[in-house]
This record gives sequence, C-alpha cells and structure tokens, in this order.
Amino acid sequence: MASVKAIMNCIGVETSGTRSLLFSLFGFIRGRVPPEADTTVTAQVSLLQLVRDLQGQHIHINVIRVGFDSMTGTTLDAAFANLDYSIYRIRNIYRPQSLGIGRVEHYFIDQADANGRDNIGSDDEANALWNEWSVQNDGLDVFVVLSISGFLGLSPVEGTCDKSDKDDGSLGGHITRPPEGLSRTFAHEVGHFLGLDHNHGDGDCPTTTAGQNRLMAQTGCAISLRNSVNLTNTEGVDMRDHCSVKSGC
Ligand SMILES: [Zn+2]
Repeated sequence: MASVKAIMNCIGVETSGTRSLLFSLFGFIRGRVPPEADTTVTAQVSLLQLVRDLQGQHIHINVIRVGFDSMTGTTLDAAFANLDYSIYRIRNIYRPQSLGIGRVEHYFIDQADANGRDNIGSDDEANALWNEWSVQNDGLDVFVVLSISGFLGLSPVEGTCDKSDKDDGSLGGHITRPPEGLSRTFAHEVGHFLGLDHNHGDGDCPTTTAGQNRLMAQTGCAISLRNSVNLTNTEGVDMRDHCSVKSGC
C-alpha cells in the first residue's frame, strides 16, 4: 500500500505537524465521520479504500458555504454534519465509476459579504454567485447556501477549469434540506459540472425504473433520494474526461 503521506502530498494536502486524517484527508469539516441519514446503517470510511480511490483518477472539491455565520451552536454543528454527509456520499456514489474525491477544502463567505447570495432566488443569482467568487486552485467550486427558491441546485453542464471564466462553479444545494436530499443534489450538480446532462427531457421523467434510479434524473423523478444515484459506464467515461480530473497518485 502506498504511504498515506505520499498520497496526501500527491493531492496537495499539508502533511507537516499533527493533523486529523478525517479533516485533512477525508475533508470532513467536523473532523469526524458524519452520522448516516439511514439509521439502519453505520457510517464508516476506510483509509485503504480512499488510498485506492486516489490511486485512480480523482477530482478535488472546494466546498464554499455562504452565510453560515448566521447559525450558531447545535444548528451550525448540524449544518456542518450535513455538508460532511455530502462529501461522504459523493465518494460512495462516484466510486463505482472509478472517480475518486481527493482534496476537499472548506471556504466560507459571510452573510455581510454575500450580497444577498446566501438566499438564492433565481438562476441568474446562482450564476452571479459562482461568477463573483472563485477559489484559485485546481478544485471544483461547489457552493452551499442557506436557501434556494424554485429549484434545488444548479450547474453549468460541463463547467470550465478556467477560474477567470464565468462558468467555473456550481450551486450544490441549500443547507436546510435533509442530508439525503442535499447529498444527492450535491452529487447531481457536480455530475453536471463534469459534463453530464439529465437522462430525460425538460418537464419529463424517465419512463423506466432503471432510468428513474439514475443520479442524473432530477430529484422529482427519483424513486429514492438515497438509492437513485446510479451512473452509467458511458457517464463515467464522460466524467473522467473532464479537465478537472487528475490522474492517479
Ligand atoms: Zn440537474
């Protein structure tokens, strides 16, 4: 097994000093495994599994939370657990298509600086959010806000890796949604960013169970928020072809 330190160096995670692997390598903002939304299942992560993921192709993600400074105490802790659950789930959802999630970094925009974008009211406002803010690194910028009206998340289909371009980010969802719903939307929007379209037309749903069980079916079409997260091999090829995808460590 490759050394964990070598893997951390490969994905650009700091290895000096004392660090929590659950924070710095797994990317959990609370430094621990988030609770499972399905209480019949025990949440677990595997260091060996993650190392294997990162020996294959992978992407880095910047999770940018907007307006979370309006929350405190247990509300804020639950919000962080919700963000961590999206990180936990997207790894599991993308793994069958051999696309790992590497470095996860957390950034924030305070309410006072957000110009109202902590509460998204339109597609234009979502576009403005990722146009106005970028993290200047090789990770995908995925924003999570306090509320969204009229839709659940938004992303350019095949976003750009040029951080000076307007289509360099996506809106992963809003934090007041239950973990299973938010995490599905988060993975769905990253799928769009990596180049995937819906597997159905606008205002339609797939007609087959298999179609309704795919990640790229909109939430309103999904049979189960937890289980309707399948990616086809063709989608896997498309995703792994995106400019943001890194080769294996
Ligand atoms: Zn969509």
